[in-house]
Amino acid sequence: LVSRKWKVQPTTIDLGDGVQIGEGSLAIMSGPCSIESEPQIRSMVNHLKENGVRIMRGGVFKPRSSPYTFRGMGIEGLQLFYEVCKANGIKIISEVMQVSQIEPMYPYVDVFQVGARNTQNFNLLDELGKVDKPVMIKRGISGSIDELLQSAEYVFSGGNEKILLCERGIRTYETASRNTLDLNAVPILKEKSHLPVIVDPSHGIGIRTYVEPMALAAVMAGADGIIYESHEKPEEAASDGQQTLNFAESAALIHKLRKTFELR
Ligand code: PEP
Ligand code: MN
Repeated sequence: LVSRKWKVQPTTIDLGDGVQIGEGSLAIMSGPCSIESEPQIRSMVNHLKENGVRIMRGGVFKPRSSPYTFRGMGIEGLQLFYEVCKANGIKIISEVMQVSQIEPMYPYVDVFQVGARNTQNFNLLDELGKVDKPVMIKRGISGSIDELLQSAEYVFSGGNEKILLCERGIRTYETASRNTLDLNAVPILKEKSHLPVIVDPSHGIGIRTYVEPMALAAVMAGADGIIYESHEKPEEAASDGQQTLNFAESAALIHKLRKTFELR
């Protein structure tokens, strides 16, 4: 069902209020790895508005490698996130880690994110198939392109056709970067599937200074959107600060992303 053989026309995901993701435009989604506080949300919303970005990312349930690190503000954080964004016309994408979180999160998110550690959580995918809100599925840490498509197939066959595919880097033998951003996946996914393809260069390379070149390369490779981490003070971020852009870097990237998309 997610294959081009079944549907040739590219799928566009409509988030309402004039925000669409799909071929013909470049979706930009940015925000902190973790939602931390109301002032943090407000400063980020202002940054996004100043730069014409309509979708904010931010996790409130965080899949952390160590249980002793910050694990997110939970549903209260999401409510704060929602109140500020709703008042400012900004759409929300946030990670859902387990089935029981779908219902409490539902009123507050515009897109459910399935993280790389949950790409093959088939119970979660089954349940998201019953939801009428878009789902962005990240490629598994060691997942193949076909496995990502099969995960999307779970959601689609369950009845939810609003799916975004996300390349976020895979684990390889390379140690110079956090992950290896597999830009091969972009043209391959675009040819195999009618679903929009998003690239996450932040987790893809994991090093702040290299996020920009990989983001721009992803646009040239054919991505329909970029999702990256930004924060007013990345050094103070509760998670993933090492791969997070500050506002000046983020504004410069947004400008270059749009210029690059025009060249395509
Ligand atoms: C995130 O987006 O902050 C995240 C945890 O991503 P991933 O699932 O790709 O590691
Ligand atoms: Mn992160």
